[in-house]
Amino acid sequence: MTAFWTEPDYDDHEMVHVVRDRASGLMAIIAVHSSHLGPGAGGTRFWHYPEPKDALRDALRLSRGMSYKNAMAGLPMGGGKAVILADKTRTKTPELLAAFGDAVEGLGGRYVTAEDVGIAEADMVAVSQRTAHVSGLPVTGEDNAGGDPGPFTSYGIYLGIKAAVKHKLGADNMDGVHVAVQGTGSVGAGVARWLAKDGAQLTLADIDRDAVKGLADELGAQVVDPDAILRTECDVLSPNALGAVLNEETIAQLNTQIVAGGANNQLARAGHGHALFERGILYAPDYVINAGGIMSVATEYLARSEGRIGRVEEVHSLIEKIPARLEQVWRTSEAEATAPDVVADRMAQELIGRA
Ligand code: NAD
Repeated sequence: MTAFWTEPDYDDHEMVHVVRDRASGLMAIIAVHSSHLGPGAGGTRFWHYPEPKDALRDALRLSRGMSYKNAMAGLPMGGGKAVILADKTRTKTPELLAAFGDAVEGLGGRYVTAEDVGIAEADMVAVSQRTAHVSGLPVTGEDNAGGDPGPFTSYGIYLGIKAAVKHKLGADNMDGVHVAVQGTGSVGAGVARWLAKDGAQLTLADIDRDAVKGLADELGAQVVDPDAILRTECDVLSPNALGAVLNEETIAQLNTQIVAGGANNQLARAGHGHALFERGILYAPDYVINAGGIMSVATEYLARSEGRIGRVEEVHSLIEKIPARLEQVWRTSEAEATAPDVVADRMAQELIGRA
């Protein structure tokens, strides 16, 4: 592995910690980009990387992303991320999770972990046997904050879509507004359900054809082929599947006025935000609109560290600030003729003292 400070994604990260435990086979990288606003918070990814340098890049890039997301979410948390380098079969043992928990504990709270790709709630429960610096744990009681962040992410995206519709189309409600939803998993299905209740017209696509058909029947929505969803004529395109869906080719084919969805890293490259702006398509920066989940994770963690249980209403009051933050980004973007993602990055950098 090359020195991390020579990596293109190294951005004055405060800490890059390599963890090796021979007994359990654990190999992990824990990166804290900034602790300016609080402990570096962000999930743990469990993934098989072809090369260790790919894992390092992921840890550097994702931890910086968390600095920006947490800052724009108004949370007293910095940005961090862990990646566990899984073997080809992605074998996960109790010993490996225990060793990872010990590594997090060893950092004394500089890094707070939660679920990410490849890590389930049960894995975080195992990690929590070894460290208190963990969140995303199961909850009892529907008024208590915690557990699966997906529904909170969906709620924030729904509010963000309504804000975008008001800003761009001047509409006060979703009646008849056509939203095309790409990906109807945990986040996308939640978004679709909120929108259906408000009378939006929905077109859905997912590679899981049975699941998408079931949801469409439930909501009275249309289904299109996964290959067709980005070209669908609609008012709002909501990407809630994979990252990097917006590139030169797909942006040229978009038939929407707004792009607002929860998928992380929707823009294949930074310049693609400008391409959307040039086409007059309003873009909701992904890490601003999809922060509902981290708001839940942070509320759960901060409340527990005060010896109490966080409340869902606390999370909702944070999520309900997402529309105003988006509005601020869009107004600045229009005033300066600069793409919204560039404005959001600058605002985040100012908040973490790195303007
Ligand atoms: P998920 O795995 O539950 O759902 C993703 C869905 O996308 C699946 O149903 C999958 O079949 C579908 N999909 C994959 N490729 C597709 C394609 N090419 N076309 C159409 N559908 C496709 O994941 P999720 O938790 O709903 O997360 C969705 C996105 O939101 C991810 O990018 C994730 O990083 C991001 N995100 C999630 C959260 C959260 O709280 N879960 C928070 C912030 C961001």
